[in-house]
Amino acid sequence: MEIKYSNQNNGETYLKIKVGTQPYTIRGYSRAGLKTCILIDEMNLVFDMGYSNDRAYSYDNKFISHGHTDHIGALHTDHCARKLYNITKERFYIMPKQCINPFKMIASAVSEMNCGKAGENIKVFDTLLSTRLLDAESCVDTYQTLIGSSKLISEYCVKSIQMDHKIKSFGYIIYRKSKRLRPEYVGLPGNQIAKIRAEIGDENLTQEHLTPLVAYTGDTTIQGIIQNQELLNVPLLIMECTGFSEDDKSDCHCGKHIHINDIAKYSNLFANEKIILFHFSQQYRTIDEILGYCQHLPKDLTDKLIYFF
Ligand SMILES: [Zn+2]
Ligand SMILES: [Zn+2]
Repeated sequence: MEIKYSNQNNGETYLKIKVGTQPYTIRGYSRAGLKTCILIDEMNLVFDMGYSNDRAYSYDNKFISHGHTDHIGALHTDHCARKLYNITKERFYIMPKQCINPFKMIASAVSEMNCGKAGENIKVFDTLLSTRLLDAESCVDTYQTLIGSSKLISEYCVKSIQMDHKIKSFGYIIYRKSKRLRPEYVGLPGNQIAKIRAEIGDENLTQEHLTPLVAYTGDTTIQGIIQNQELLNVPLLIMECTGFSEDDKSDCHCGKHIHINDIAKYSNLFANEKIILFHFSQQYRTIDEILGYCQHLPKDLTDKLIYFF
């Protein structure tokens, strides 16, 4: 694993890690109330756009957790940057239903301003150019294929999951799609499989299998996590953790966020291979300060933790 904290890397965190067989290059920055934008290179994917990382505009999949400004506030710049750089290929947005209209209004207003108009008669975009826009509510029970030019990207799909926050907020789970033999054919010798394939066709011999790879929680309480078994089992969990000190506990719970002691309390439930913590309160100025508050955590939990500082 290679990690450069924001103070070592021009104000952004850079993380290179392999979880199972899946490599991840994860970059971005996150502070509660200020800005969160987390990119995964291998999946052509951005979680939240509370600010716009320099490269974010070139990624085609953008999944927004909720309407708080520190998570969606810079999404409209994506719109303008793609126009400026003449990127016409399709992009894929998912966001909570309640964000869609306000976002269209913001994008329309910014577009007017960008063209030097005074905005006296703003026409709100009905649809966004080259954009596949879905509400997160409709992705809770369906799996959506990620978009991108490489074949590899289309092997990934996403599902949303409702979290527990002050306003409606969604997390996202990314899966890899693969074809596996239907149970009745498992264990048969290769020549027999080939014969059956010729008779009934590949589509009847195999079925689609989804392997969960990574989940992103957005803002949530610990209840939002522990009520979702999938989040506790996914190999890589990117989980918010806003507070660390004892004094910060009530603020944290009042804002419907996670405090490190909440994670400690339920530590035995986390079956993930690795857990990346993000969304630290701005009052924690150094990574050492945060680590100082994590001394009491059980070792099998600390072995999993990565701090996106
Ligand atoms: Zn936030
Ligand atoms: Zn929030």
